[in-house]
Amino acid sequence: MNENILQTPYRIVEIFETLQGEGFNTGMPSIFIRFGKCNLACDWCDTNYHQYENKTLGDILATIRQFSAKNIIITGGEPTIQPHLERLLDRLKNEGYFLAIETNGLKPVPLQIDYIATSPKRLYQKNYLKHHIPFAHEVRIVVDSDVQDFCEQIEQSIKADRYYLSPCEKEGEMNLLETITQLGKLNARLNKPRWQLSIQTHKIAGIE
Ligand code: SF4
Repeated sequence: MNENILQTPYRIVEIFETLQGEGFNTGMPSIFIRFGKCNLACDWCDTNYHQYENKTLGDILATIRQFSAKNIIITGGEPTIQPHLERLLDRLKNEGYFLAIETNGLKPVPLQIDYIATSPKRLYQKNYLKHHIPFAHEVRIVVDSDVQDFCEQIEQSIKADRYYLSPCEKEGEMNLLETITQLGKLNARLNKPRWQLSIQTHKIAGIE
């Protein structure tokens, strides 16, 4: 590979191997690449996307090769705002990895991605009226308040194989009752997409 390409810098918070903790692929051995920075600022955000280091494409490849999983989850922060993302994805694709992304869904997803999980944010409902991705394999909406209207907006505008509600965690408390109550209301509607529960099982299981 061209030496200059290996020097391409990326804002990296962390790279680690674990089990996917939420959504349809719960339990799948995965390598997470967490990028710094986000184009939103949710008040309950639980990721440290401000704390990143610049790492080169070569550094990232060297780290990933130490792990055994073949599923890579590109996450953040917001990965779609990362400069030169496609350059990295091309390289990972060439090495045979299955590429998944976790995105807030406001910006287009690179073509190299095999699996799209999107988590649109009700706090920014107006942004999603203007633009968002049109398709995802799974949609996950966090129940940070009454999200019924927002779920109806998103299910009409983002076609997905599966729709999930996730509890919101604030100050160590998970609003599970609120979440299943809203889940029940969504599924009581006739002839509408079915919603399912997705919990951050990695937190309960005590893994990263
Ligand atoms: S979109 Fe995600 S990463 Fe960005 S602030 Fe909201 S919860 Fe945090």
